[in-house]
Amino acid sequence: MPIITEVDLLKHRRTKIIATLGPASDQPEIIHGLINAGVNVVRLNMSHGDHTSHAATFARVREAAQALKQPIAILADLCGPKIRTGAFEHGQMELATGSKVIVTTRDIIGSPGIIPSQYDALATDVQPSTSILLDDGRLKLQVISVAGTEISCSVVDGGTLKNHTGINLPNTDLSAPSLTTKDRDDVEFALNLGVDFLALSFVRRASDIEELRALVEHATRSPALIAKIENPEALEHASDIIAATDAIMVARGDLGVELNPEQVPLAQRQLIDMSRAANKPVIVATQMLESMIENPRPTRAEVTDVSAAVSMGADAIMLSGETAAGAYPIQAVTMMDRIARQSESYFLQHSGSTSRRTRGAPDSPVPFGDAIADAAARLVYDLQARAVLVISRTGMSAVTVSAARPPAPVVGITGDADTCRRMNLMWGLIPVVADDVRHANANEIARRTARDLGLAADGQRLLLVRGFSSAPQYNTPSITILNM
Ligand code: PEP
Repeated sequence: MPIITEVDLLKHRRTKIIATLGPASDQPEIIHGLINAGVNVVRLNMSHGDHTSHAATFARVREAAQALKQPIAILADLCGPKIRTGAFEHGQMELATGSKVIVTTRDIIGSPGIIPSQYDALATDVQPSTSILLDDGRLKLQVISVAGTEISCSVVDGGTLKNHTGINLPNTDLSAPSLTTKDRDDVEFALNLGVDFLALSFVRRASDIEELRALVEHATRSPALIAKIENPEALEHASDIIAATDAIMVARGDLGVELNPEQVPLAQRQLIDMSRAANKPVIVATQMLESMIENPRPTRAEVTDVSAAVSMGADAIMLSGETAAGAYPIQAVTMMDRIARQSESYFLQHSGSTSRRTRGAPDSPVPFGDAIADAAARLVYDLQARAVLVISRTGMSAVTVSAARPPAPVVGITGDADTCRRMNLMWGLIPVVADDVRHANANEIARRTARDLGLAADGQRLLLVRGFSSAPQYNTPSITILNM
């Protein structure tokens, strides 16, 4: 067998692309370029920028999406209990390896030998010998002693420390609340904008997501929730968090600081498997094409990393600094799109799918919806169906079918524009709004939609899946085999 992997690129990429917007990409022409290059979801990062600039970017994305007729979803990412340093005289300070430094929770400007932090409980959360990591672990301090608001440390790994740098305390249970005052303001702001997804950083347990859910569920347009998994506590409670949330993000930036780096790929693999088994979309994030912040081409290792996330069956892969602050935002999306198409094409040809999801306990029955979705995926092979069309009011049927990773494109047909945009995060889903979905003949809607999308021609087969419900008495899913 030839080793070369020259295969036709797929017309419909299955793995979705999320691009973080920022100064390099928040202008209309770049937003248009990102969407044309294949972005499905954009992220507004509440750790940077202010409400005025986020509101302006939000409006530009909605305008661009409408002009380009693409159901682009918008994700607002809440900071959560991220600890940061304060500001320094001259914007930065030098930390010499082996020197002593004080970390203080007093509200002061940092100066040589003093690092301020706004996190009041820092002095009670740490104890002698605790490690304090700064700037994604590039700098490291070790606590010597604590007195009131002052934490005396020795500098283990020194370097330059800039204003508002992130602080991580690996293996320390933070007493900070899961939603800070800023997060609550940001939630209200995001609800008023009408975002499609709200991600929460540094989720530690299911109750963090439940607390956020309680804040958003009464909104007129309640966004879907994404739990960012980025510390050991979240890994410990991963199955409860996955049960409570609508989707997860493997936030490898902070995860790689809080864990040993070599543990991150394994955590990623396990989280993808667990999330897929629970029919919850999973996003792999951070440093996927990091070198493209400065270079027009990625490293070979980055390309391999993107391909690996695709092969593990992630629903979405995310760009951060590459699109928010890099010199090549559109090229980064184009590159990600090419890697995903090439890899998917290969995996679909060679194994018929990306890796299969793990089942629950072998001796317990498969949940109803999963069995139908798996059967539909199997029927795609046996009947060489060109597409699976799913009628989905809330997106639940669509996510169930998507999680079975059928080899043909899945079209999610809904009457609701909000559901349509949310489906754009899901693996393989082509989301479509059909205004007549409630009263017209479902078979006809399916045939019409497949024809309009160029998915099937006369004489070819389609599968129509519908009838899922979270209420057992209405849960009557069916698969219809349609000839065009
Ligand atoms: C991460 O840490 O990987 C992440 C996605 O979070 P943020 O970009 O908000 O730091």
